[in-house]
Amino acid sequence: MNSHTYPSDFLVIGSGIAGLTFAIKASRYGTVNIVTKKKDTDSNTNYAQGGIATVIDPGDSLENHVNDTLKAGDGLCNIDAVRIVVENAPERIRELMEWGTRFSMKSDGHGHEVLELGREGGHSQNRIVHAKDLTGRELERALLSKISSIKSIRVFEDHTAIDLLTEHQLGSAAGERARAGEPGKITCYGAYILENATGAVHLFPATVTMLASGGVGQIYQHTTNPEIATGDGIAMAYRAGAMVADMEFIQFHPTSLYLEGLKGRFFLISEAVRGEGAILTDVGGRRFMEGVHPMKELAPRDIVARAIDAELKRSGDKYVLLDISFKGREFLQKRFPQIYERCMKEGIDIAAGPIPVVPAAHYLCGGVVSDRNGRTSLENLFVSGESACTGVHGANRLASNSLLEGIVYSHRAVEYIGNNLDRLGLGGELPEFPAWNKEGTFDLEEWILTQHNMEDVKRLMWDYVGIVRTNLRLQRARRRLKLMEEEIQDYYRRSTLSSELVELRNLATVAGLIIEGAMWRKESRGLHYNTDYPRQDDSYRKNIILMSNGETLFRNLSDMLFS
Ligand SMILES: Cc1cc2nc3c(=O)[nH]c(=O)nc-3n(C[C@H](O)[C@H](O)[C@H](O)COP(=O)(O)OP(=O)(O)OC[C@H]3O[C@@H](n4cnc5c(N)ncnc54)[C@H](O)[C@@H]3O)c2cc1C
Repeated sequence: MNSHTYPSDFLVIGSGIAGLTFAIKASRYGTVNIVTKKKDTDSNTNYAQGGIATVIDPGDSLENHVNDTLKAGDGLCNIDAVRIVVENAPERIRELMEWGTRFSMKSDGHGHEVLELGREGGHSQNRIVHAKDLTGRELERALLSKISSIKSIRVFEDHTAIDLLTEHQLGSAAGERARAGEPGKITCYGAYILENATGAVHLFPATVTMLASGGVGQIYQHTTNPEIATGDGIAMAYRAGAMVADMEFIQFHPTSLYLEGLKGRFFLISEAVRGEGAILTDVGGRRFMEGVHPMKELAPRDIVARAIDAELKRSGDKYVLLDISFKGREFLQKRFPQIYERCMKEGIDIAAGPIPVVPAAHYLCGGVVSDRNGRTSLENLFVSGESACTGVHGANRLASNSLLEGIVYSHRAVEYIGNNLDRLGLGGELPEFPAWNKEGTFDLEEWILTQHNMEDVKRLMWDYVGIVRTNLRLQRARRRLKLMEEEIQDYYRRSTLSSELVELRNLATVAGLIIEGAMWRKESRGLHYNTDYPRQDDSYRKNIILMSNGETLFRNLSDMLFS
């Protein structure tokens, strides 16, 4: 149980696409420690099926991709942030291929191999680069293989970041001011990290910290996200004083595989299946998207998810049906091998009949506020990927724009760092931080308590802060969560740390942020739908920015950060 200090120039929290691509590039400028909560491949990235959006077809244009993104974002995207990802996409895809990523190819009819481009909901063109329906797994394989060839990068698996190292933990005057919540510069110097196997808490001091800890799907009872997606990075950054925004915009994927009695991660039936022409019906075979949106099954995800939610509430059924069987077995086995096999394993032959599907929490549009170079409001703390709020997604993410956002912003963060090595203090001295204080904590051995508390938070969020919200449900959720949070905080203070306890505390914090965002937004926009305010109200065309000093700003992020 000995505690150690593992200094590096860069600390990267997370081994998904955002963390790994940052680490590869940052290693040019110094040593890199990557900490990751479970195995190196345990990430949302690993489960991505559809692919990465990019304009490479001569019949497509950057302007089309920008417009599709803005349309999905429902008035809240930051156009600069959108242009940045769209314009950078082709170059980043080329780089991924140079690093060994094998995307699906096809013949151009003139003896050359070209990238096979898929189509997803909300996209007006075929522009999704993919590796069959296993894009994420292929990305993780290629990136981890590249990482293993770089000597200055060290990967710590089964290590959970607990809290960031900032002035708050220092005995200095700056520390006093930070603890008192007085305004002033807060700098991040790394993090306290729990070694899961031994329970030891180590110091990981670093000049630059990259938060790439992914999303929050596990806050909900039904989710497509793996167990790691508990919003740790967002909660840590918020506690340290960073600005967090757009937390009310949770994307529910319309189609996850419905299996009676399933708990944990719901298997995703990719949007690409609808892109290939799949049809949604109720259990009686009625095609209900026809009257809902001109793009029918290819309408933006929020519209499809709400239509399914309404169908289920109307009929009382547990699922609706998605039919792609007419494409034939050979095509389906080749184009969707993972979906084909997984469904077959569950006794569902997708070439012979429809797939039972339900919506599930899938993606967080908001997160830690980032400027156009991945910088947060804390000095030397950068953020990228699903933990970040860059302004790209606005009120609703366009499919296959998120892996892209991660690679582009990680790239830009390293570019910024390379141009500002002195300003960031790379190679300089760091303050000395105290070892983790575990005084007064005991091994309460109440794993069952942690599990029950987690289930309580997830059920509360699913029932009261889900696809369709109301004022009454939100108020109830806020009241109940407050009680739960008090209990959890008390339990956290008294118990010996475990990874589950760290996650439970973070789940509660992030659930609170989602509820606050949802209560402030008194309109319906993008992914946030409140039946008490069913219409969009342009006086709400702003971001809700939450801060741990209790202040909430209702401002346009682009005015603050992108000017
Ligand atoms: C089923 C599914 C399908 C998807 N399909 C697509 C798609 O086709 N196209 C697309 O663009 N997007 C897709 N997405 C979304 C996309 O996969 C994610 O937004 C993206 O992978 C996020 O990357 P990331 O690097 O930010 O986070 P992740 O890939 O989730 O990585 C987060 C990392 O942080 C680590 N971590 C978390 N907390 C801690 C902690 N406290 N300490 C240490 N480590 C920690 C985790 O272990 C993990 O390694 C999909 C998501 C899911 C779930």
